[in-house]
Amino acid sequence: MNQRWRVIALWLLPIGVVLLIAWQVFSSGGVNGMGNSGPTVAPRNSAVARMSYGRFLDYVEAGRVTAVDVYDNGRNAVVEAVDPELDNRVQRLRVDLPGLAPELINTLKNEGISFDIHPPQSAPPALGLLGNLLFPLLLIGSLIFLARRNSGMPGGPGQAMQFGKSKARFMMEAETGVKFDDVAGVTEAKLELEEVVTFLKQPERFTSVGAQIPRGLLLVGPPGTGKTLLAKAIAGEAGVPFFSLSGSEFVEMFVGVGASRVRDLFKKAKENSPCLIFIDEIDAVGRQRGAGIGGGNDEREQTLNQLLTEMDGFEGNSGIIIIAATNRPDVLDSALMRPGRFDRQVTVDAPDIKGRLSILEVHCRNKKLESDLSLESIARRTPGFTGADLANLMNEAAILTARRRKDAIGLSEIDDAVDRIIAGMEGRPLTDGRSKRLIAYHEVGHALIGTLVKDHDPVQKVTLIPRGQAQGLTWFSPDEEQSLVTRSQLKARIMGALGGRAAEDVVFGHQEVTTGAGGDIQQVASMARQMVTRFGMSDLGPVSLEGGNQEVFLGRDLMTRSDVSDSIARQIDEQVRTMVKHCYIETVKIVASNREVMDRLVDNLIEKETMDGDEFRAVVSEFVDIPDKERTTPLLKD
Ligand code: ADP
Ligand code: MG
Ligand code: ZN
Repeated sequence: MNQRWRVIALWLLPIGVVLLIAWQVFSSGGVNGMGNSGPTVAPRNSAVARMSYGRFLDYVEAGRVTAVDVYDNGRNAVVEAVDPELDNRVQRLRVDLPGLAPELINTLKNEGISFDIHPPQSAPPALGLLGNLLFPLLLIGSLIFLARRNSGMPGGPGQAMQFGKSKARFMMEAETGVKFDDVAGVTEAKLELEEVVTFLKQPERFTSVGAQIPRGLLLVGPPGTGKTLLAKAIAGEAGVPFFSLSGSEFVEMFVGVGASRVRDLFKKAKENSPCLIFIDEIDAVGRQRGAGIGGGNDEREQTLNQLLTEMDGFEGNSGIIIIAATNRPDVLDSALMRPGRFDRQVTVDAPDIKGRLSILEVHCRNKKLESDLSLESIARRTPGFTGADLANLMNEAAILTARRRKDAIGLSEIDDAVDRIIAGMEGRPLTDGRSKRLIAYHEVGHALIGTLVKDHDPVQKVTLIPRGQAQGLTWFSPDEEQSLVTRSQLKARIMGALGGRAAEDVVFGHQEVTTGAGGDIQQVASMARQMVTRFGMSDLGPVSLEGGNQEVFLGRDLMTRSDVSDSIARQIDEQVRTMVKHCYIETVKIVASNREVMDRLVDNLIEKETMDGDEFRAVVSEFVDIPDKERTTPLLKD
């Protein structure tokens, strides 16, 4: 028995007594006036699975829902649904609702579904629960703990030996239910991983010709690109159990716990082979040993050593394949990458436009779309989105659609969802006044420079509706297919970012410029510094003046950090400052000589709140010629 449990048990006893008294006072004092004794908040425990609102509506339509309990002013509900494929087994699922819509109630009534609306309660809702349920549980719990403590155990100090053994924190799914078809847009990775399925399904094909089956495979890529999903798909395709555990769960306060978990995991896996072990965030344990300030982390190193030992310990054809995922392969200990361990690396990158299109297709399978909604145009306006972002986007759009009482997702919902994911929640527009004018000039400044400087990305839209931290926003459409950026494009971006401040400066005067340009100025500084130190685009010539890795890996890089002499550092600063100053002078010049256009654009913008790129350019072109922008990806027109 674990010591911590004993401490908990000791605490539980007095709590139990206090509760017993409280309970008796309450039940005799007649607090039952609240009537319904059922819970008044939806159970939040994770045992109840979640279901999306869209799926819920589908289930209602399909007649699979038998009962609905609405909680929390209609913000969520617990739904009982039957699964015809599983002998009508009853599932309980949690659903987030967009609010208590009368239509929903009507539908439920028409479908003959029994439903109940639980009123929010002002008294602490926990009391009812505590009295009814928690208290007996607690008492029983503490009794058991005490009983166990008093019997059985040999007692004395030896007890702490069993640490960690009882808490197997890994998860096992006998059947993940994920197939390769559910993972889209990562064609190369999928090709590579299809072979792993064969390793698991038909190992003889390889062993018969004397081939060693690889044991470990490392998935490398930014968060949300589908690494976990891919690992599940491999297990799903091969029809083998899926053991998963996160690297951070290996590492505990007590030395030796992590290592014992690794042992447990491998033991269980061997009993269930063939199977797949998935270790998420392996960098949490697999960091280079000996790194770290003030000595290494003993616990982590022991865990890592245990992992390496276990991986060496089983034969190549034991039917177990280990897949690990990380987004920081650079910090991994090289012993992990040695042949026979995680010797295969598969990169899972953020998808390109085609990939995004196919991911969107996967996530639209169960959604209703307006017939003229083109997934391709969504893919085109979401550069940089990962699979998880796209899944989130479609879900947000579906929620918006439900909230607006529409029956299919349209372009305006998609647009709003994209904006929300990139820039945050929409705020309330300012009322007309001096500060609104100033923000309008600031944004128009960005957009005007973006339009008039030839090498800048074209404006997608300008808006005065606040989002997230920003009071106003100017959106540009980047040219995605172009992966190399030229010096003049970088300069154009610096000028574009300075456009806001330049406009404030020209229109309101030197003393009136605001803090609103803070973010822009930070961006300018980092672009200019990179041009000097990384891309060799200054008078200092094509010399790399800083390591490529911007982040300091504590304990390894700290000592060797400064590889630039003081005088060079001063020259870098000098170059950055000159570059930014020149750009600013040029920007101010453009803004000042287009004062009339700006005034008109600002009036327009204040009236409309949002102008799209074409409207903006139409106004500008009444006054000046707009330079042609060469692009490989065409601009959106819809
Ligand atoms: P990671 O493990 O790389 O951080 P996940 O595999 O957990 O990412 O992805 C989270 C969710 O995002 C998935 O459950 C899935 O819905 C969606 N997703 C991510 N990548 C893809 C993809 N390539 N195709 C389809 N859906 C994806
Ligand atoms: Mg993951
Ligand atoms: Zn700005």
